[in-house]
Amino acid sequence: MKLFAKMFILALCALILFSCASAPKNEGQGKADDGSMSAEELSYINDTERRHLLQNNVEKDNEILRKVSIPAKLGAEGYDVLEKFMLESLGTGVGIAAPQVGINRRVIMVQRFDKEEKPFEFFYNIEIKKTYGEKVVGWEGCLSIPAGFGQVERWQDIDIEYDAEADGKIVRKSENIKGFTAVIFQHETDHLNGILFIDVKTADPLMTAEEYREMRMKEKAAKEAQEEKTE
Ligand SMILES: [Zn+2]
Repeated sequence: MKLFAKMFILALCALILFSCASAPKNEGQGKADDGSMSAEELSYINDTERRHLLQNNVEKDNEILRKVSIPAKLGAEGYDVLEKFMLESLGTGVGIAAPQVGINRRVIMVQRFDKEEKPFEFFYNIEIKKTYGEKVVGWEGCLSIPAGFGQVERWQDIDIEYDAEADGKIVRKSENIKGFTAVIFQHETDHLNGILFIDVKTADPLMTAEEYREMRMKEKAAKEAQEEKTE
């Protein structure tokens, strides 16, 4: 239930953190791009006035959110600032992707509910390589979508691959991820391909943050009443 509360607060933060500043363009880097940030990207991410959490109901922001992101380079200039700003922008959320803060690079941050300490971890050039079992439907919200919550079918068991540093070199690392953490990985990886959860949700209309909160409160009350009965 805590997770749903988090998702709710996450949506509220999205509503509050509205901004009109524009994000940088990374066109013109072409084939030579090795994942290093351009001068324009560096100037944007270091500019505390200009950088912001993007919202899909702002035209300029939505253009960035809808782009396919290009590769990132672990340890290159500016990525430490990007990571810090992603963490700052997360609020009480459970995951965020670089395009959501205006950088179209393949970096995501995911809260690892599959680890005891539930740490926030960054993943560079992440790929979902394999899925297992059946998809399960669950509620999702997004920091960049103030309109509300929807239900999405996601895999519960996935293999991922991403860049990691080993002995000063960048190598590919693989992991198997299960449950809700796997859902976060799919939501954030979609962002890197310009896909938002509203594109892949069920046909039901979005629930507003208020409606969603009420539904969760009712469910919680019903569960508690049931528990009292069985005691
Ligand atoms: Zn999102």
